[in-house]
Amino acid sequence: MVETSRALAPTTKVFVETIVNSVCTVVNAPAVLHEPTFDANCWAPVKDCLDSGWVSSVGSYVDGFEQRLSAFTGVPQAIAVVNGTAALHLAYRIVGVKAGDEVIVPSLTFVATANAVAYLGAIPHFVDCEPSSIGIDANAMRQYLSDISEIRQGRLFNCVTGRRIAAVVVTHVFGHSPDLNAILSVCNEFNLPLIEDAAGAIGSFYKGQHAGTVGHVGVLSFNGNKVITTGGGGALLTRDPHLAARAKHLSTTAKIPHKWEYCHDEIGYNYRLPNLNAALGCAQLDTLDDLLLRKRSLANAYVAAFTNIEGVGVLTEPSDSQSNYWLNALVLAPQKATERDAVLAGLNDAGVMSRPIWHPLNALPVFSHCPSMQTPVAKDLYNRVINVPSSPSLAKLCP
Ligand SMILES: *Cc1c(COP(=O)(O)O)cnc(C)c1O
Repeated sequence: MVETSRALAPTTKVFVETIVNSVCTVVNAPAVLHEPTFDANCWAPVKDCLDSGWVSSVGSYVDGFEQRLSAFTGVPQAIAVVNGTAALHLAYRIVGVKAGDEVIVPSLTFVATANAVAYLGAIPHFVDCEPSSIGIDANAMRQYLSDISEIRQGRLFNCVTGRRIAAVVVTHVFGHSPDLNAILSVCNEFNLPLIEDAAGAIGSFYKGQHAGTVGHVGVLSFNGNKVITTGGGGALLTRDPHLAARAKHLSTTAKIPHKWEYCHDEIGYNYRLPNLNAALGCAQLDTLDDLLLRKRSLANAYVAAFTNIEGVGVLTEPSDSQSNYWLNALVLAPQKATERDAVLAGLNDAGVMSRPIWHPLNALPVFSHCPSMQTPVAKDLYNRVINVPSSPSLAKLCP
């Protein structure tokens, strides 16, 4: 308590108390940021899986989970893998990212989006975002790429570093979709495939299309802090049967199917989702529609609670996006940015788990050597965006 009991300026103190009180009209403390919801229906498939003995990477729940994901998201094929980071790694690899290439990555995203680029020996190249979705700013990216790159024989090169730019990845931040049409048109202009990090965005739609199904490849995560979970898990989504086959092949050690021979035709990965995790995933999918209703109701409650509060607003879905509201976010007014840490301390001290948005990746020491455009919007939002408790179980649904 010594650190946080530092005297606050009276206006800051009132501001912090107002925010804490408003959040507490929506949720009861203590509340964590996001916890999974398991109902009684989760036990039967998990028990059945154990009873069957098929707990690892082969089994009917993996196939069933993939079929249901493809039906829900509207792509012909979904490939279930061990986690969202592995899915990103595979996504970059199947669209042709190679060692020494650069990949355009938003400054504001979870670190895994950039880490998976580095796993291939490629280099993340950071771009700025826009405030309505916190996703990539398409116009700023177009201007920047026009300034620093050129197309030679159909391939895009960074004139400053001499390296090829091989792809763009966008993130659906907190479930909100970026302006994918605008971003796609920049990708087409510069001959770049588009990957969607929709890790937190199951149940989110952009102009009616599920998140992760607009670009060449999309990625979902089923980590314990996402809307539905398999413990650990992830999936790739694509409409391209060739890319789907590549992803599945690489995720299963690049083994050529055969009754008994171990023949592998390239360096693959052990990335297949285990059947035990998929069994839990099937049960979780049964409750997804209900969870999405709860998420929306909680988001509406936050909006209502903050309607008349000066100096802070709530991030809502952009006009073309139907968000799953994975994580609710308060956005402080620019003049309140200096009070962010006091707000975070006040909320956490009150038992309301809260966190700032991810640190801009281009400002992290591990990525400081990587190319980057100026990212003033990301830097500004980092100082003003605060995630607040968002578990579906917190929603008080009207009867
Ligand atoms: C959760 C998340 C990931 C990583 O998914 P894991 O399953 O934890 O590996 C990647 N990107 C974003 C935006 C995420 O929210």
